[in-house]
This record gives sequence, structure tokens and C-alpha cells, in this order.
Amino acid sequence: MTVARGTFAYEFSEGSEQALASKEILGGKGAGLAAMSSLGLPVPPGFTITTEACRDYMAAGGLSGEIVEQVERQLGKLEESAGKRLGDSEDPLLVSVRSGATVSMPGMMDTVLNLGLGDAAVEGFAASTGDERFAYDSYRRFIQMFGDVVLKVEHEKFEAELESLKIEAGAEDDTDLSAEDLKGLIERYKRVVEDETGSSFSQDPREQLELSIQAVFDSWNTPRAISYRKEFDLPDDSGTAVTVQAMVFGNMGDSSATGVVFTRDPSTGDQGLWGEFLLNAQGEDVVAGIRTPKPIAEMEAFLPRAFGELLETMRRLENEYRDMQDIEFTVERDKLYMLQTRSGKRTAAAALKIAREMAEEDIISREEAVTRIDPSQLDQVLHPYIDPEAELEILAEGLPASPGAATGKVVFSADEAEERGGAGESVILVRKETTPDDVHGMVRAKGTLTALGGMTSHAAVVARGLGIPAVTGCKALKIDSSAGGFSIDGKTFTGEDTITIEGSTGRVVEGAAPLVEPEMSGDLERLLAWADETRDLGVRANADTPEDANRARSLGAEGIGLCRTEHMFMQEGRLEIVRDMILSDTDEATTDALSRLEPLQRGDFEGILEEMDGLPVTIRLLDPPLHEFLPDSVDLYERLAELGDEESSEATEIRRQLRVVESLEEANPMLGLRGCRLGIVRPGLYRMQARAIAEAAKNAREKGLNPIAEIMVPLVGFRTELAGIRTEIEAVVGEVLGPESPVRIGTMIELPRACVVAHEIAQEADFFSFGTNDLTQTTCGLSRDDAESAFLASYLEGGILEKNPFQTVDQDGVGELVAMACKRGRESRPDIKLGVCGEHGGDPESIRFFHETGLDYVSCSPYRVPVARLAAAQAAVNGEREALGVTR
Ligand code: PEP
Ligand code: MG
Repeated sequence: MTVARGTFAYEFSEGSEQALASKEILGGKGAGLAAMSSLGLPVPPGFTITTEACRDYMAAGGLSGEIVEQVERQLGKLEESAGKRLGDSEDPLLVSVRSGATVSMPGMMDTVLNLGLGDAAVEGFAASTGDERFAYDSYRRFIQMFGDVVLKVEHEKFEAELESLKIEAGAEDDTDLSAEDLKGLIERYKRVVEDETGSSFSQDPREQLELSIQAVFDSWNTPRAISYRKEFDLPDDSGTAVTVQAMVFGNMGDSSATGVVFTRDPSTGDQGLWGEFLLNAQGEDVVAGIRTPKPIAEMEAFLPRAFGELLETMRRLENEYRDMQDIEFTVERDKLYMLQTRSGKRTAAAALKIAREMAEEDIISREEAVTRIDPSQLDQVLHPYIDPEAELEILAEGLPASPGAATGKVVFSADEAEERGGAGESVILVRKETTPDDVHGMVRAKGTLTALGGMTSHAAVVARGLGIPAVTGCKALKIDSSAGGFSIDGKTFTGEDTITIEGSTGRVVEGAAPLVEPEMSGDLERLLAWADETRDLGVRANADTPEDANRARSLGAEGIGLCRTEHMFMQEGRLEIVRDMILSDTDEATTDALSRLEPLQRGDFEGILEEMDGLPVTIRLLDPPLHEFLPDSVDLYERLAELGDEESSEATEIRRQLRVVESLEEANPMLGLRGCRLGIVRPGLYRMQARAIAEAAKNAREKGLNPIAEIMVPLVGFRTELAGIRTEIEAVVGEVLGPESPVRIGTMIELPRACVVAHEIAQEADFFSFGTNDLTQTTCGLSRDDAESAFLASYLEGGILEKNPFQTVDQDGVGELVAMACKRGRESRPDIKLGVCGEHGGDPESIRFFHETGLDYVSCSPYRVPVARLAAAQAAVNGEREALGVTR
């Protein structure tokens, strides 16, 4: 098919193998019909009005003369090939008018069937089919559908007439109505149309067609279609194509049927026959569920000839499309007609199995198999989920912040979650929002639910890191801490109540919903192995504990890209030492606290290095502002007030603590005393951490292991910051490991200035790791938590921002800086290693950008490692294809 601008309608038979690539113009349905026609498959004749025509219609606010003329020309050809004419009073042609967008939007747009019938044509139709009842039933269905879709007459108005007629005629089912009854019904329907629209039902088939085409175009903009596109991130401006096709009838007696088949099982991916059919029925009967369809295998017994032809057609279509197909067909008087073929929707498990088997059957290459899996779908198979068959009492929906599903009793404080969770009870932590103070509770809870916060709120980020489910931003949730509970829609829940949350969908369910446990299937492992052969980008994990490291390694991480040491500081028993260190006012007290911390840190590092034996582990020195580890000043004032006026050593100590807490309070901690600035102001701190790392490496080596520790300095903006710290670290490491075993020292790149002077900083750094969380905040001047709670949602809704920049990297701004830093860094130090360890390291779209920018690796939370492996491979395949100019 040669596509020409300004050609608004194509006959199906104009299709060629190129039609496979012409979905953008013909829509999925039109392209499928063209392809099937070109394969010589039995497709009722017809034509497709293009998506370009739809866009033209929407821009002009009506059908242009050119479109009307081309439709008329195509209709002439259709009448010729069908050997029938629209509106003919002896043997009329009937057509269907159906929507078909480029990406299928099932059930979202409108369809008109049996178009072309009128008072004269119906008589000819009765005569030519020899079935008067059937003809009048088709006519009344047409009025009803046209009335609903085109004339916007409420469906119920017609249903009410049908119901009262059935009562009058003593008919139980529609099928009990005679031809005479139906003639009467048609008159009633026509009256409904007249009453509701003020005009009589059109008897002009040309007018019927034109109005129907417009109505299908208009249905692109129905609220349900718009929200579907929003949900699935589809463009709003592409428009839908419309197919006009000669009707065939599956309801012409027992040698006729209609059905749907998949070439493989869409829920398991198994080979074999999967689908159903209904004898003597039209497509809508299957959808309406009036009668129960039969399994497709039984069709052989009823319609052996058509069944044989169907099997052969399925095989051909699957080979042609090289993918599992979802096929609609009709059998009219034992003759098979194909009405639609498209790539079938499938579960993640089926997608994996089908991709693997098709590669093993040599239908597709391994690289292509890797591109067939939607990385975001992998969450389905890597986390528990609610049994899709279960009947659920859904209480509310929030944001799907961290995948997986969990059931537990509700608890309202992190301390209670820690206590009850620690004692082995399953609990869900329910909070208005979470802060770093809640982490100890989140760790022990099975999941977290918050009323506020977005997809990158604290709760979301921590939960994803921990691999536990979270639902955030659940607006219906009203926390009433005084009553010790929360309510949703006036229903109250307290600590004895159980809920289930599903962080992959955002659902909050009453009671304990049945969960399905995931497992890393053989199919997944095989596909990931192929992905590993294909990708250039390395994949590491962000992990802070030996357990996380172990999990990351088992999910295929090739190292740790970020080990945040502050999480180790937060652990029970350690926080006191950290506080002693910060609150100390003498050098001796500081040294004492640091020397108590050092063995604890060393132990942690040793555990992680052992788990990651032979793989690099990038350990970041302390980053957050010190006040995050201190008691809250309000709490301290309260305690002081409780003690009254009496002087005591406790009161003196609280006052001393208050002085330090208040001296550390900052107007803007994000840009305050944190990151490497801490290391400079409190030199003993980084020295202690560097020694703990070097000694851990030494101990691991003495056990015969091959530890590869890397030390990373956060939030560097000036070369001189890193230079000083590097000298100190090198000295400590040299003391422990000797000059022969250098530990690589690098920096996070989290500030725009660092990107601009990357060539200078590179002189001091063996590697850069882009902290794209902070780099996004500092580049855009957005504080993540503030933006998410205040205005990000309206920015996204209003289209000011297309994507949440904390989820998908802002390529034009932050991305440009990353690219600049990579270029300048490499020019200055060609062997510098470049990675990303912000949240974006696990986001498929961002991963593609990082691949294109030439980074060496991405690092993400352990559970996202498989997603990143797959996305990195897809980026490599797609990049290669684009370079070769392949569009499909
Ligand atoms: C970052 O800023 O991207 C990063 C990984 O550091 P953190 O999220 O710990 O600030
Ligand atoms: Mg950071």
C-alpha cells in the first residue's frame, strides 16, 4: 500500500505486506483487515477511513467535501465487489461502521451495525435472506444502535419499549418475538426517535453512513476514551480510523456462528486452542452474555469445514504476525469470514512463555523476544498479587507506589508497627504520610498505606527500596488518631481490623484478600539471560544490608551502585551512639562515639562485601543533615516542661541537647549542612567510615574472598571539596590496606554545578554516580516532597509537565546536564566509570535515555533489577534498529 497524504480512505484489498506497518494510518483493525485481505484470507469487502481523516474532521469540526467524496468512491467499489447496493429494495448491502485506533482501546469507542436498512430495504433484505423475522430483527437492532450512538437517544428508552412489547406479546425472551411483533416494535422505536430528536428516523443510507462515521470519530473524545488514554499513556491527538465493511451474519441459523479465538492461551501462554463461539448469534450476543458461548474445540462437531479453515487461518496469521493473535470471526451458512486480527493482550506470565517459545521455535529472534515483554508488567510476576478471581470489597484506590500485595491488621504508629510486626504479627502501617522517623516501623510492617504523598514520596521511595508494597496518596482515607483509627467513606477501622493493600494497582481492600505468590519462572530466567546477552548497560542495585545485597545478587545485580550508610545509623541501638557523636561537645566524646560506631559499620560492610564477593560495592559516606538523627526539639521542650522548675541533671542534659538541636536546625536542610559538607566540617566522621570500609575489605580478603569496595562522596559541587576528602580517605585506606590495594574513590553528581565543572571534578574522581533524585531537585528547583504534596499533581493534570520528573528523568533539563557531565568527565578522564543511582535507574524510559547517553551502568532497588536488565536490553535493541532505519 502506498500511503499518500490527503488519501482519506483505502480499500482493504489495497493492503499489502506493508499494511502490517500501517496501523498509524489505518488503525489496528483497518491494518489487520488489509493484511488479511492481502494474504487472501476470507475478509468481507470494505474500506478504512484513515486516522488522518479523523484529525482533519476534528480540526475542521466536520467532514470535508474531499472526505465525503472519497468515502462515496470507496462505497461504490464496495458495492461492486459485494454485488449489492446500499439501500436496495431487493437485495440490499448492509455494512458495519466500526472504530479502530492505532493502539487498541477495547470497548472505548462506538460501533454501528446493520447500517443501510430502512423501510424499503428491510423488505428486500427479508426477501433475499428468506427470513422475515431475521430481517426485521436486524432493522430494529439497527435503529436501536444508531439511535444510541449517533442520535444520542438513551438506550433505556428503547429497552423500555422492548420490555413492554414482550409483556404484551407474552414473550419471555427476545427470540420469542415474531416478525409481526418486531414490525410493531420498529414503529415504536421510530416514535422514540422522533420524540427524542424531533426528526424522523433517516431512510437515506448515505446520510446514515455519513452520520455514523462522524459519530465514531466523535467517540474518540468521550470521557471514557479520554480517561483510558490517560491511564495507558496514549496520545490524545492521533484520532481513530473507521472501517466500513459488508456485514456477514452469524445469526442465520445453525450453520452460522460467531466467535473469538486466541492462537495461544492469553493467561498462561500455553499452546493450543483457546476461545469460544456461539452458534446462530451475532458478536454483540457474545458480549452481552445472554447465552453462554461454547469452548472453541467443540466447534469441530458443529461446523467441521469452517473449523478446519479457522485452524489453518490461525496458523497463518500467527506466522505472518510472528505474535499471538486475538481473532474475531463469523461463520455465515458454513462459510468462514475473518473480521479482525490483532496482537492479543496477555498476562505477564503468558508474555514470557510466548516470547520464549516463539524464539525457541525460531519464529522470532532472541533479541525480539526480549523486546516483547513490557518491563512494567514484570512487577506482576515478581511480587505477590491479589487473586484475580477473588471477589473483593474495594474500599478505596490510591497511587500504586510500590508493587506487591499484603494483608494485615492496621496500625497507626511506626513504634506499634515495629512492636507488633517484630513479634510476628502481620501489620499494615497506616499513616497520613511517612517521614524518616517511621522507617523502623515500615521495615517491620507488611505494607504501608498513606493518605498523602505521591509516587516518589518518602513512603513510596522507602517501600520500593525495601521491596514492600505501598499505596500512597489515598485521598479517601481519613486518619483520626484521637479515635485510634481511620475511616473511609464513613466506615471506621481500628487496630483490630484487617485490610489488604495492593501496591501494584493502588487498591485498598477490606479484610484478607487471597494473594497469589510469585516465583521467578524458568521463562523469566531464560528471557533475562537473553537480555543480559543483549544489553550494554550494566545493572547494579541500591542495597544497604547483607540481606538486600543477597536478594539483589539473586535477581541478577552485577554489583551495588549505592549503599546508603545512614540506614545503618538508624538501626536500633545505634541511633544512641550517633546521637552521642553529634551531641558531643568535646573531642574525646566525639572520638569515643566514633570508635563505638566503627566496629558496627565494619560488620555491616563486611557482610555486604561477602555477599557481593567479586562484584563492586559502592559505599556512600554519610549524606543527610545531622539533625535527622536527633530528637525533635518539640519533644525535648515537652520533656522539659514535664520536669517542671526543679533543677536536675536530666533537665540540664535536655537543655544541652536542645542547644545542639537548635544550632543544627536549618531553614533549608536540602541545601544545607549535608553531603560532603558534613565530612569537611566533621572530619573524624568520614575517616571513621573509610577505615571501617577498608578494614571490612581487609577481613574479607583474609577469608579468601575478593571484595571490591568503592568509596563514594555525596553532594560534591567543587573540585576542592572532593580533593581534600580524597586525600584524607586515601591516607586512611593506605594505612589499612597498604598502597598496593587502592580502593576506588568517586563522587555522586547531584548538583548542576558539578555537571558544569565535571571535567575538573573528574580529576579527583575514579567514578561518577549521578544522584538523579537530588539532581532533579536542584536542577528544577523543586523540593520533591513539597512539590508532590502541593502542586505536582496539578502540573501533571494541566499538562505543564508530561511526566513526574522524579519518576522519569527530565531529559531536556536534567538529562542534558547528565550528558554534559558525561562528556566533560570523559574528556578529562577517559577511564572514568559513569553510573546512575537515583530512582530513575529503575525506570524503563529513563534507562533508555541513560543507554543512549553512554553511561556504564544503572543502579536501582533490588526488586527492580530484572526490570532494569530487560529495559537495558530493549534500549540496546531499539537503538540498533533505529540506527538501521527499521521501523517495526
Ligand atoms: C540521589 O540523590 O539520586 C540519590 C541516590 O541520593 P539520595 O536519594 O539518597 O539523596
Ligand atoms: Mg542524593
